[in-house]
Amino acid sequence: MAEMICIVCPRGCRLTVDEASGAVTGNSCPRGEAYGRSEILDPRRVYTGTVRITGASLPRGPVKSSAPIKTPLLMDVSREIESVTLISPVRRGDAALKNVLGTGIDIVVTRDM
Ligand code: SF4
Repeated sequence: MAEMICIVCPRGCRLTVDEASGAVTGNSCPRGEAYGRSEILDPRRVYTGTVRITGASLPRGPVKSSAPIKTPLLMDVSREIESVTLISPVRRGDAALKNVLGTGIDIVVTRDM
């Protein structure tokens, strides 16, 4: 059994998740059940970081993934983004890296630069 606090809303329910079956208890709503099961069986996070850019006022610009990425892949995503250099101008929402690691998820710029 794994225990965790649900972070989906401020109520902060204490969840218990059976790693074998994915059964969740302690949740007060279905969103907590989905969160607890996902955290154990398929944990994902939105990637946030920076990417090198030339011709802008700053040497790096902020980026994030267009959707949550499996947490074991996050370090590999960081390494991939290090191989990228954007050329200014770029617009918020532009893809800095498409289909990162074959996930179907893009790494997108979060600020005009
Ligand atoms: S289980 Fe539902 S009510 Fe409880 S913290 Fe999660 S989202 Fe909020």
